[in-house]
Amino acid sequence: MVIGLDCAAPSLVFDRYREAMPNLSALMERGTWGELRSSEPPITVPAWTCMLSGRDAGELGLYGFRNRVTGETRLRLANGSDVCVKRVWDWLGEHGYRVAPLLIPLTSPPTPVNGQMVSGFMWPGGDAPWCFPRELETEIVDLFGPYCPDVESFRAGDLDRIYRDIAAMTGQHFEIAEHIWKTKQPDFMMMVEIAVDRFHHAFWRHIDPEHPRHEPENPWVNLGREYYQLLDYWIGRLCAPTDEDTAVLVVSDHGARAMHGGFCINEWLLRKGYLVLRDSPAGPAPLEHALIDWPRTTAWAEGGYYARVFLNVAGREPNGVVTPERVRAVRDELRRELEYARDDEGRRIDVLVHAPEEYYRQARGFPPDLMVYLDQLRLRAIGSIGWDRIVVTENDTGPDSCNHDWNGIFVMSGGGMPARGYVEGAEIYDVTPTILGAFGLARPPGISGRDWTR
Ligand SMILES: [Zn+2]
Repeated sequence: MVIGLDCAAPSLVFDRYREAMPNLSALMERGTWGELRSSEPPITVPAWTCMLSGRDAGELGLYGFRNRVTGETRLRLANGSDVCVKRVWDWLGEHGYRVAPLLIPLTSPPTPVNGQMVSGFMWPGGDAPWCFPRELETEIVDLFGPYCPDVESFRAGDLDRIYRDIAAMTGQHFEIAEHIWKTKQPDFMMMVEIAVDRFHHAFWRHIDPEHPRHEPENPWVNLGREYYQLLDYWIGRLCAPTDEDTAVLVVSDHGARAMHGGFCINEWLLRKGYLVLRDSPAGPAPLEHALIDWPRTTAWAEGGYYARVFLNVAGREPNGVVTPERVRAVRDELRRELEYARDDEGRRIDVLVHAPEEYYRQARGFPPDLMVYLDQLRLRAIGSIGWDRIVVTENDTGPDSCNHDWNGIFVMSGGGMPARGYVEGAEIYDVTPTILGAFGLARPPGISGRDWTR
């Protein structure tokens, strides 16, 4: 049984809220636990898929929630059909095991499995299917009400409503998992709770005394403890019917940290002359690609948890100007300038710049030319333009005070698995060989990572 807590941070689970989580603590005390290094980038899409396929984001061709397609500069939202490799439940199913992947990112639309599948968030809504087999949809709705794959508008101001939705959704998801476990008796079941991520994005600055904009008297200051306590209640309830042969894993796809603000990457490219516009917006506005003066533009970027910088390459981009022979030199120069970026007061910013081939075994699909992490992820990448500053304290896609961090959590307990206590060095790529190892299966070719059951 694998319980995925999207965005669960080691600092909260292992430290600040540990005593509010007796069930998880008991798993740790009887098992092996530590930090789990995420994928590059440490983002939900691709991280869960990296974890469950043993492939890196380059091999998957997934560099974030949205990805480029050939012939366009705009990005397109990923879905389950973009996953072209097997995931752990496919191999287990092939060996005759009954599987139940539930609510896992990039499982919408659902696909046939040897068991049951419930799609994760990013479900398009309406009549789109969300279960395999489809009859399971009626069964779930009859028992637990309308399917709720995500919290609506979690980057908004109405925090009390957001918390009610988070708590209700968490309950529904764990009840679905409990129901599947008891009635379908899968050999392998995994669920992911996306609400933890939503909670962090909505409430981080209110629960984290270290956040620069934390107000100690705010009404939500104890809500972190309350929510992690609730998670622990559900973890305990889900694990209650398991026997001593059941190995339990509790994992997260990445961690979380305080977000201090954002680095306006396109504003920076404008000031440096890499990006040229035909007209400037009066105030902050998304970068409209129709506004870009493409024949005079060398590079532009996509914002988000990190920045993806694309060069305007002749023959690749519709109005590309950088000739393929010059790509490497232009990229190296841009990289050097980015590494020496300064804030509005002239202070150096910690900027980590990498080319995809430095991270990946292979870079499929449409990788960015440069991947940029800002101030160790204390700053988000702001893609919009029209700011009069390079570093801003707000986020351009709604209130948010949390960014992702590289280290998530790994807890393995029960089922005769080795109890090593606290360990270092676990990586997201270890999870697939560990799950397969728990079933006594050899790893498929091309899958690296450590099998922690040995
Ligand atoms: Zn995530």
